[in-house]
Amino acid sequence: MNVAVVLYTSDLRLHDHPPLLAALSSCDQVVPLFVRDRAVDAAGFAAPNRLAFLADCLTDLDAGLRERGGRLVLRSGDAVAEVCALVQECDADEVHMAAGVSAYAHAREERLRYALEAEGRRLYVHEAVITAAAPGAVLPAGSDHFAVFTPYHRRWSELPPRTVAAAPRSVPVPDAIGSDPLPRRAAVTGVSPGLARGGEREARDLLTRWLRAGVPHYEDTHDDLAGDATSRLSPHLHFGTLSPTETVHRARAVGGSGAEAFVRQICWRDFHHQVLAARPDTAVRDYRDRSDRWRTGAAAEEETEAWKEGRTGYPVVDAAMRQLRHEGWMHNRGRLLAASFLTKTLYVDWRVGARHFLDLLVDGDLANNQLNWQWVAGTGTDTRPNRVLNPIRQGLRYDPTGQYVHRWVPELADLAAPQVHEPWRLPGLERARYDYPDPVVELSDGLDRFRRGRGVA
Ligand code: FAD
Repeated sequence: MNVAVVLYTSDLRLHDHPPLLAALSSCDQVVPLFVRDRAVDAAGFAAPNRLAFLADCLTDLDAGLRERGGRLVLRSGDAVAEVCALVQECDADEVHMAAGVSAYAHAREERLRYALEAEGRRLYVHEAVITAAAPGAVLPAGSDHFAVFTPYHRRWSELPPRTVAAAPRSVPVPDAIGSDPLPRRAAVTGVSPGLARGGEREARDLLTRWLRAGVPHYEDTHDDLAGDATSRLSPHLHFGTLSPTETVHRARAVGGSGAEAFVRQICWRDFHHQVLAARPDTAVRDYRDRSDRWRTGAAAEEETEAWKEGRTGYPVVDAAMRQLRHEGWMHNRGRLLAASFLTKTLYVDWRVGARHFLDLLVDGDLANNQLNWQWVAGTGTDTRPNRVLNPIRQGLRYDPTGQYVHRWVPELADLAAPQVHEPWRLPGLERARYDYPDPVVELSDGLDRFRRGRGVA
């Protein structure tokens, strides 16, 4: 009997899973393995919301494998050491895994390849599992990545997509391979009360419902904050309970402008992944240095705290920040304006905001989070780096009835639009009825400060 290990990372599914299928086609038995990686925890990525969602995903993956005669093996420690120990234990000939994009993922692959080859075993790293197109699958002349989205999107759309692979019918796993107990969602503390459920079944149901009822309207409604009319598939794409390739195929099969706009967003995801793969330092460093002199000190810290807690005095920003805390997720329009408020209006370093998002977001993802933060801050790939979103105008435009604010800022629940977006303008007595803070900063003062700090006219 020859055996292969399949190392699961951000690809916690059975459908459209090339590493699992390759392992099954070359070996008689496979050991599906997930390592609770100590280094990932130590780097601050073990946020409660993602740990709880991960617990759902692992439980569901194990259940799916059991239906196919197998099971999931869980180990904890250093990923490379744990894979090598398991390979010895089951005398595996080969290991299969999905390619990652971060510096850590690249280093892990290299360490694993080296350790396995020293033992005469092979590592197979499969591309286009975590993203629809592998980073580097389309490249501009003379560069290792696209720095501008539109030409990337054009080339990405022309790329023939990989065929979607079915889930295997049977996954034979050798007996007597020990596993740590699977984590339980209920055992994780500090989880947002409105956190979504994880797992491949949940992901597939959500995708089916979304393609049937949501995607046709997506183009018109994706920015409607109160309408909440986006797919909410981001945590599933982050944990890989849904294949981005399959998502693109199925959306294209629906067709229409809504599906096209939705697929374009999946392309944004690939775009940021290919930037991070080529420039792993952008997880922490500016993609484009703008010589920023970000604010620090007591006042900046106090204002950042108000931002985190959703009490900046700008209702739509506060609504977005409170949604983040309550659900571990935030609407994209909310992310844009909350990030613009921190980096441009308060002129606080994007890394501070990105860290807070990573502490709470269930879809918190190094490529998408850091590079979207940089995009908004103007240190990234945005071709208009100094634009500043005005939270009042954004509120009036994307929450015209004030329903989104009413949902998340109950102090203002009986205040009608448009006043709900500028409660401080109410006359004295009426203003006093609302237990809601005054703005932490005047927008015009914030703008001046940003322009001075960045040195723009
Ligand atoms: P939909 O609108 O239904 O889009 C479908 C899918 O496309 C999403 O699930 C996501 O995978 C992808 N997508 C959509 N917009 C973007 C985008 N701008 N960049 C990259 N991929 C996109 N997304 C994350 O997955 N993880 C993050 O950590 C993250 N952090 C962000 C931080 C900031 C400051 C901003 C502005 C955006 C961030 N995004 C992040 C992108 C986007 O906000 C979310 O992907 C989206 O809101 C998720 O909701 P949805 O699944 O309903 O999206």
